[in-house]
Amino acid sequence: MTDHVRVGRLREAIIDTDAITQNVRTIRQAVGVDVIAVVKADGYGHGAVRSAHAALRGGATMLGVADADEALRLRTAGIDAPVLAWLHAPGQDFRDAVAARITLGVSSIDQLAAVAAAAPPGVTPTVHLKLETGLGRNGVAPEKWPEICAYAARLERSGQITVEGLFSHLSNTSRGEDLESLAAFRHGESTAEQAGLHPRMRHIAATQAALTIPETRLNAVRVGIGIYGLSPVPGKTSADLNLHPAMTLVATVAATRRVRPGHGVSYGYTYRTGRRTTLALIPIGYADGIPRQASNTGPLVIDGRRFTVSGRVAMDQFVVDVGDHPVTVGDQAIIFGDPAEGAPAAAEWAAAANTIDYDIVTRIGPRVRRREDSHPNRS
Ligand SMILES: *Cc1c(COP(=O)(O)O)cnc(C)c1O
Repeated sequence: MTDHVRVGRLREAIIDTDAITQNVRTIRQAVGVDVIAVVKADGYGHGAVRSAHAALRGGATMLGVADADEALRLRTAGIDAPVLAWLHAPGQDFRDAVAARITLGVSSIDQLAAVAAAAPPGVTPTVHLKLETGLGRNGVAPEKWPEICAYAARLERSGQITVEGLFSHLSNTSRGEDLESLAAFRHGESTAEQAGLHPRMRHIAATQAALTIPETRLNAVRVGIGIYGLSPVPGKTSADLNLHPAMTLVATVAATRRVRPGHGVSYGYTYRTGRRTTLALIPIGYADGIPRQASNTGPLVIDGRRFTVSGRVAMDQFVVDVGDHPVTVGDQAIIFGDPAEGAPAAAEWAAAANTIDYDIVTRIGPRVRRREDSHPNRS
């Protein structure tokens, strides 16, 4: 592993943007259709702007975010690639988004009307109509679909909008259930065609379906977690999918102390030393996104050796019983990263905290500095 220690740094998330680029290439090759790179939630904690640039370098043809503010932030950073935003507030004003040529996912007739009404002179808003196919979130209900298609076709004929895409989102419950949703989507596509809509983009799969259910690839896939190198596929690791985790979370051992057997550790003394031992202080806590639920279970690596959090994770720090290993102040603790390089997997923290690795990377807080660094042994 490269030497990531930086004197004077408490903690940082090292972001390998080349890994993101390469993951996009790998996924594009695997799916054979356009990749919409999802960079919502600050690029799942990796930084939206750097993730967007890296994904576009890897051949993504569009970016996806949840809301229009996230899309506008990409524009402000100078990114002019197509950006799709699909989650909107009731009564939202779409003027800024339309003026910035953000493509809007539309889930209701009211939204479609608001988008059409938001166009400044000379701008035709571009929309993707979203059909609800079983997930129970947003999307137009199947019984309203013919009506919105007819309305959208009228708006398109009069030059007020461009319907560029149709989309939906899957539950990843099972292959069977996802194929049922796909069938509902296919039905919705033909309804749209009959209404006179011929959008060039059709997308329903996120990472998991894109990689495991080829029928769902249509002509584009919306890939989030996969571009960051994490696996959403049960039973498959990043390496199994040929993906490289892009975030390595590290902290610098801030203090060590030798203590007697029976010494309590951290709030509530949920851990007590079993023998004379060394405690190392790791200056990163739940305010930074380390799950408190991973108290006494979260893994880390110091100097090539694996340890486990001892006692409760506190707001700013936690403690590790490192036994007699020669851990010293200034050593780097790797909290998670690429298991192929000896780091714990984000998925291990997810298991320790009863959550998913999406949650582990996305929750890393603003107090953790992001630093871009490539892994020289990759490319
Ligand atoms: C977040 C999201 C995605 C990306 O999902 P991954 O599982 O991270 O690939 C795709 N589509 C929609 C609608 C989403 O909300």
